[in-house]
Amino acid sequence: MEYDIVIGLEVHAELKTNSKVFCSCKNQFGSAPNTNCCPVCIGLPGALPVLNKKAVELVIKAGLAIGGEINEEAIFERKNYFYPDLSKAYQISQLVKPICVGGHLKVGNREVQINRIHLEEDAGKLTHSGESGLTMVDYNRGGVPLMELVTEPDIHSAEEAVEFLTNLRSILVFADVAECKMEQGGMRCDVNVSIKPKGSEKLGNRTEMKNLNSFKSVERAIKYEVERQAEVLDKGGVVTQETRKWDDDAGISYAMRKKETSQDYRYFPDPDLLSVHISREKVAEIKKTLPLMPHELKEKYIAEFGLTEYEADIITREKKTIAYFEEASSICNQPKQVSNWLLTDVLAKAKESDGEILLSAKELGLLIKLIADGKVNRAVAKEIFAKVWAGEGDVQSLAQKLGGSVDEGQLAGMIDDVIAQNPKAVADYHASEEKDKLIKWFVGQVMKVSRGKANPTQAEQLIKQKLN
Ligand code: ADP
Ligand code: MG
Ligand code: ZN
Repeated sequence: MEYDIVIGLEVHAELKTNSKVFCSCKNQFGSAPNTNCCPVCIGLPGALPVLNKKAVELVIKAGLAIGGEINEEAIFERKNYFYPDLSKAYQISQLVKPICVGGHLKVGNREVQINRIHLEEDAGKLTHSGESGLTMVDYNRGGVPLMELVTEPDIHSAEEAVEFLTNLRSILVFADVAECKMEQGGMRCDVNVSIKPKGSEKLGNRTEMKNLNSFKSVERAIKYEVERQAEVLDKGGVVTQETRKWDDDAGISYAMRKKETSQDYRYFPDPDLLSVHISREKVAEIKKTLPLMPHELKEKYIAEFGLTEYEADIITREKKTIAYFEEASSICNQPKQVSNWLLTDVLAKAKESDGEILLSAKELGLLIKLIADGKVNRAVAKEIFAKVWAGEGDVQSLAQKLGGSVDEGQLAGMIDDVIAQNPKAVADYHASEEKDKLIKWFVGQVMKVSRGKANPTQAEQLIKQKLN
């Protein structure tokens, strides 16, 4: 039988704050275990949480970036469950009144609908040591602010899911909401998958795989699950609604537990936290801080600067390249030229140096300006570029040394030198029937001596005169 695939994602991202969400402990990855902890974030009885304003603002920012609606009142609730990484046996989260509802995010030509974004706290981290058989717990991550974005069941393939996550990550990074370092667990994803007979309106039973931390595993887990469910249905069976564990090494998933519902968690408003009132003025203020998003910049670059779709796409893929492009363009006012240099010279060179760009945006802008003003020609510009990249000076002083044009007297001197140093070529020239071909060789020599600064047409005429 043929099936439609239905996917809903729950994406967690750690917010870019200095301190944790309900206490003043550091929000910092990589500290020695259990050094960024206090009675609040390890949940000692009687400790009182105080809400981090910045965390709320970042979720509002994320919500605005995806066109969501910001609730005027947001409520924090306790989600009760026991697990050793959660020492107070409940997580402060949001259920009935999250900070943001609705919104959408473009994937290909479609808009995937978003259900909500809420704010909650992260749990600690368990490390299982194979050798000793012991499990260790580090509560540094406990209480780190997390946003959770939940999509509608509106994604229809593994590829679309990966594109959704890629676009979401670039928006969050770009808006300075989260760093989304997947390898540090800064962005994680729960994947809900179901299938239904092609064209059917009714959604099938879904399974959920939690805490996938790479795009590759999201893609593989979805593909595996779709195939597994199709086999079950093809045999006339029923897909069990359950939480499954994806084993990335083995490339399979297995049933972990029956799917829990929100009743299982006994949510109730946290009596230690007041509800949050979000004024419309505050929302407007945050909206002003929102930069143009990568997809908006891409459209702008194509429409206003005449970049190709391909060029605009590459530049807007990373925050770093956008900033570089913008800065260089602001200096020389030649965005198309900046794009040319960036895509060919800069990024190609950067590949040789581990992705590092060794010529600042400012320097590139200056260099392009010098070309536009006729102060250096392209060949010299390339030479300057290579020298700056190699750490042999800056654009301005190299341009003074290598740039400028060659005047007629200098040119004549160079030609005399070339002729004097190459008697055999001169003899060949006089003996040859194909003088035009040989003259090009002399022009080449003069260009070399002049470091590309000579005007080749002028050089050719002068060489002819001198040789004849
Ligand atoms: P929870 O998993 O906590 O019970 P929800 O009921 O809000 O939370 O749903 C979580 C995710 O599951 C959402 O992203 C939603 O789009 C997705 N989802 C719900 N029903 C289905 C379905 N039948 N197939 C695929 N995904 C689904
Ligand atoms: Mg879920
Ligand atoms: Zn703390």
